[in-house]
Amino acid sequence: MSEANYYDILGVSKSASDDEIKAAYRKLAIKYHPDKNKGDKAAEEKFKEATEAYEVLRDPKKRQAYDQFGKAGVGAGAQGGFGAGAYTDFSDIFGDFGDIFGDFFGGGRFQGGRRSGPQRGSDLRYNLEVSLEDAALGREFKIDIPRLETCVECSGSGAAKGSTPVTCPDCGGSGQIRRSQGFFSVATTCGTCNGKGTVISNPCRSCHGKGLVEKRRTINIKIPAGIESGSRLKVSGEGEAGPNGGPHGDLYVVTHIKKHELFERQANDLILSKKISLSLAILGGEIEVPTIDGKKVKMKIPEGTESGQVFRLKGHGIPYLGGYGKGDQHVIVRVEIPKRLSRRQRELIEEFARESGENLHGPKSKIFSNK
Ligand SMILES: [Zn+2]
Ligand SMILES: [Zn+2]
Repeated sequence: MSEANYYDILGVSKSASDDEIKAAYRKLAIKYHPDKNKGDKAAEEKFKEATEAYEVLRDPKKRQAYDQFGKAGVGAGAQGGFGAGAYTDFSDIFGDFGDIFGDFFGGGRFQGGRRSGPQRGSDLRYNLEVSLEDAALGREFKIDIPRLETCVECSGSGAAKGSTPVTCPDCGGSGQIRRSQGFFSVATTCGTCNGKGTVISNPCRSCHGKGLVEKRRTINIKIPAGIESGSRLKVSGEGEAGPNGGPHGDLYVVTHIKKHELFERQANDLILSKKISLSLAILGGEIEVPTIDGKKVKMKIPEGTESGQVFRLKGHGIPYLGGYGKGDQHVIVRVEIPKRLSRRQRELIEEFARESGENLHGPKSKIFSNK
């Protein structure tokens, strides 16, 4: 056993607080724990050293004695090493340290706890594709999900009717196997019962002893108006059932909004491109434009409208989720220039140009230069 100073071993000062000592030990114990360093003698030695130092420094009386008399003061040196005789509770060291290891090794394991009780089931995620209309108006969906449910035959116990799970013969029901390594023991999860503490000799035929069966469930969910892509809806208690008849986890429905062929969404506003004729743009008039609710609304086009001009239809956008009102619909007008003219149309446009005093063939041309 090392002659190094206990404070140096833990890497703390002589005036370190209990919390500092505990934190320092926790760090070392995690690093050098025998479970994580199988067969590594040096790590095992470090672990023992740190444990020995912690055992003394965590106890105010022992710490005081150590500060005054060194290892002799706490009995370690006198016995020619830190031996089993010095601390009777050493075989149960992991039990004592449950609060330290619990955080890192999944709890229960070092506290002799069994995992045979009901446990909450897993949460489920379901990706739901919705249309922009659904996002704007809200909609109810029926979704079909495969999930684990408590087996009805055995009520989740996994044991056939008329039988019950029996205490595991290998671990005696503790769910752990303790192996002695030198003067301390290491607890590992029992492989026979997987830490449950019980085994099933006569498994339920319907779930093959698992206590859970996979079933498809149809669940109704209401998508509220105003939902966005990536919104997460929690449906409580519709996830998977837990082991041993445990309660269901939750279901999370994540929405993905499909691209719309007419409308583009910008937050709560909708944008629509609308083609209008050249004559309408020049003379003005009225058009009908589609809205996301499947209806059509009339919209005035003022005289002399240019291509690219934007008109706002107030309140025809997407509702604010969980709030009041809606966004707007913006209509971007695109003026269509006719590509194929009839002879008559051409004559009229030429006349229009002449009337406007335009020379369509450049300044040197004589065709329209009658001024
Ligand atoms: Zn069953
Ligand atoms: Zn067992």
